[in-house]
Amino acid sequence: MGMSALQLYNTLTRRKQPFEPAKANTVRMYTCGPTVYDVVHVGNLRTFLFYDVLRRALQYKGFQMKHVMNITDVDDKTINGALQAGVPLPEYTAKYTEVFLADLEPMRVEPPEHLVRATEHIPQMVELTKTLLEKGHAYESGGSVYFNVASFPGYGKLSGKRPGTLSVSETHARIESDEYKDDVADFALWKAAKPDEPTWDSPWGPGRPGWFIECSVMAMTHLGETIDIHSGGTDLIFPHHENEIAQSEAATGKPFARFWVHPGFLLLNGQKISKSLGNIIVLKELLDDGHDPAAIRLALIATAHYRTQFNFTVESVKDAARGLGRIHDFMDRLEEALAAASADTEAAEESSLTAALAEAERNFDAAIDDDLNLPQALSHVFDLMRGANSAMADGTATRSELEQTRALMRKFDRIFAVFEHEKGTVDAEIEAKIRERDEARKERDFARADQIRDELASAGIVLEDGPTGTRWRRVGKRPGVI
Ligand SMILES: [Zn+2]
Repeated sequence: MGMSALQLYNTLTRRKQPFEPAKANTVRMYTCGPTVYDVVHVGNLRTFLFYDVLRRALQYKGFQMKHVMNITDVDDKTINGALQAGVPLPEYTAKYTEVFLADLEPMRVEPPEHLVRATEHIPQMVELTKTLLEKGHAYESGGSVYFNVASFPGYGKLSGKRPGTLSVSETHARIESDEYKDDVADFALWKAAKPDEPTWDSPWGPGRPGWFIECSVMAMTHLGETIDIHSGGTDLIFPHHENEIAQSEAATGKPFARFWVHPGFLLLNGQKISKSLGNIIVLKELLDDGHDPAAIRLALIATAHYRTQFNFTVESVKDAARGLGRIHDFMDRLEEALAAASADTEAAEESSLTAALAEAERNFDAAIDDDLNLPQALSHVFDLMRGANSAMADGTATRSELEQTRALMRKFDRIFAVFEHEKGTVDAEIEAKIRERDEARKERDFARADQIRDELASAGIVLEDGPTGTRWRRVGKRPGVI
């Protein structure tokens, strides 16, 4: 068997399964991207951050990535948006694509290997529709082409929704009812032109692709007929992903995706996010309120397991910021200890930190292997910090152990991507004050030294004089729990 002990929950089989890519060492992954008709909200952001964690964890396990994410730049929502704004569709979607990509940057989301647009794959969508017609899985009606759900026996295997059991409200809510369809469950592969809509030529006259076929085509064009992992929000399981499976597998006769992985819903202050409730929050608002993007990232990826429903609140971002503050303080302290550790400690005996390092790595890896349990993995990061802090405090940590600690923290951060930090201008000012105080003490100007200490204390900064110099920490905002 292979090297990986990684278990992922597969929606298709409804259980955790060991994951290995089918071919060589490269993971072929497709994730449903944004529909670029508006700014993404914090619920969408959780999904995009999950894709990032998933790809980072796969790379952490030693796999190469071939990850495709689409931009849905033609569908009902984008067309309506462009019509209402009175601008051509490409201009309208280009604007929201740009906003979307700009949001991912401060969230430290690694770009996928291929970011692809639906409108650049129209000929392939026409081809797949032709194949489905030839194979008897589709029919033309009124210039549109529909997939015949009854012709595909595997329909419902992902969502559990079998064609005969679909209620009228389910089909009407998510699959458009249409006078030309034979059955309520059937869905459009190609839609005949309507007035005011952008259209492309096809053997069935001018029209545009249906939303579901866009993803099937973009996945298979870039990754082949069977891909390793397909992901998308839980709300896409039915009908979007179910229909992707039906049209792809009916055309190729092969399994479309080996693993289907779905991040859970996000609630906002205990409520479902919806336009009608008027409770949508976008990233810009959180950043404008002064929240650290790294804390927002940490809150969204590591407060709750990715498959559970997560109740996002301002408090959850503040909690993440406090945890992050402890991590950043620790990284600074580690650097100071490394700078102070002389070469002569190299021959010293190993301390308790060597065992703590091994245990933290083993536990961290086990948490990641267990269906990407990031909250658990983060708790093992704090375990390591506690172990290293006590070895640093009692002066037993060797230089080599401190170096290993830094290397392991950096390794863990390949998934979290928030541990490294640049010292801000505020930090630099505090450190300038500390240097001024050191000078005053050297010159035995204790009145001035105490004055500086008091100034900093009133700003919530506590100084600790130790063998390696003066360290500082914030009180209140960053309780010294470790
Ligand atoms: Zn999709």
